[in-house]
Amino acid sequence: SLSDRLSGVFERLRGRGALNEADVRAAMREVRIALLEADVALPVVRDFIERVTEKAVGQSVLRSITPGQQVVKIVHDALVEMLGGEGADGAASELMLNVAPPAVVMMVGLQGSGKTTSTAKIAKRLKEKSAKKVMMASLDVNRPAAQEQLATLGVQAGVATLPIVPGQSPVDIARRALQAAKLQGFDVVMLDTAGRLHVDQPLMDEMKAVAEIADPAETLLVVDALTGQDAVNVARSFSDQVALTGVVLTRMDGDARGGAALSMRAVTGKPIKFAGTGEKLDGLEAFQPGRVAGRILGMGDVVSLVERAAETIQVEEAEALAAKMAKGLFDMNDLRNQLKQMTRMGGLGALAGMLPGVKQVKNAMANGQVDDRILVRMDAMIGSMTPKERSKPELINAKRKIRIAKGSGTTVQEVNKLLKMHQDMSTAMKKIKKMGGLKGLAGLFG
Ligand code: GDP
Ligand code: MG
Repeated sequence: SLSDRLSGVFERLRGRGALNEADVRAAMREVRIALLEADVALPVVRDFIERVTEKAVGQSVLRSITPGQQVVKIVHDALVEMLGGEGADGAASELMLNVAPPAVVMMVGLQGSGKTTSTAKIAKRLKEKSAKKVMMASLDVNRPAAQEQLATLGVQAGVATLPIVPGQSPVDIARRALQAAKLQGFDVVMLDTAGRLHVDQPLMDEMKAVAEIADPAETLLVVDALTGQDAVNVARSFSDQVALTGVVLTRMDGDARGGAALSMRAVTGKPIKFAGTGEKLDGLEAFQPGRVAGRILGMGDVVSLVERAAETIQVEEAEALAAKMAKGLFDMNDLRNQLKQMTRMGGLGALAGMLPGVKQVKNAMANGQVDDRILVRMDAMIGSMTPKERSKPELINAKRKIRIAKGSGTTVQEVNKLLKMHQDMSTAMKKIKKMGGLKGLAGLFG
């Protein structure tokens, strides 16, 4: 696997602090092979490698994992981001149909990519999940029986199809579909366009003419996940000619590693909205970047391993901090770091979350009683302390409190609260030590 190959590359690196450029470049040669094996198009691979190399060089290596595993994690995260981010699952991947009805969804792509099947799958999904009244119309006048194919699927899906009138052009059919939908109060009209085996201009002109009169809310490019190096050309030709809004990647139930997803996303810049996962009409899923990234790399396991390692690091740091606190060495600098973590993570630092005082702040924040401005104020107070005061808070007398409050634009009362919080944390830590020490504490993080 990629991970094995990378551990070879990084053998020498164990114990060194950060990923250096030469090692990262060597690792990226392996990543490049993995991406090409997964059918990511070459220019996309090149761009991706450049970006990830930049990101990886200089990153410090986590203690609990090998540098090779860490590189895999960096590559995986970059893939997920490029595929649309984890947040893309769900709402963002749904269709944007907030226009005056009927909203038109136009399906485009090469012949055999899965347009007709996906049209019926999406129509069924809109009907069942969004309670939309959907009509489908086939504009494929080239292939014999193409319109009948959609009608049959319509019956299976329980979705209306536009009655077939022989001899009409795609533009005529589109116009008729819009009229019928308006008259009969349909919410959505799905237009299944014709495809050719190869991209050609007559096909593109026909598609453009239909787009002009139908003004689609969504134009989805349907692509077979098994499309290899050609994916870039397909994506580019279609997105040059019509304003695509998204991609449907079909045949994800097969052996495809899914590299076409990355190529599509890189070239069109549009989200991959759905994955086709079978011939049946329920074989459609919201596209899941995390899953596909793991598939492209061929290794979900390593990623979770690296995630666990990152958690372990947090625990190690927390233990070190706890040891300091137990010895009474936990000072205002440490408190400040914990507060910084809270701000950065939008939650709590690894240790601080367990402690009184900080917990109160956290609860108050959760209840909407205070916002994160309080963290900024605390930071300002610590900032207004002298280095001596920070390392020995017990020096802070009434006079110093007034100075700190003034310097930070806060009140003496707030300074008192901050000092009390620090005091409470130290006390709590001493108690934890008495009760069984740091092992028990670490267990709470596991
Ligand atoms: P079109 O020419 O683009 O309209 O393609 P079709 O919708 O007619 O699909 C071509 C073939 O691919 C049909 O046999 C479909 O059943 C099959 N197909 C479409 N989508 C999927 C999918 O997600 N998974 C699998 N396994 N087969 C699919
Ligand atoms: Mg078709």
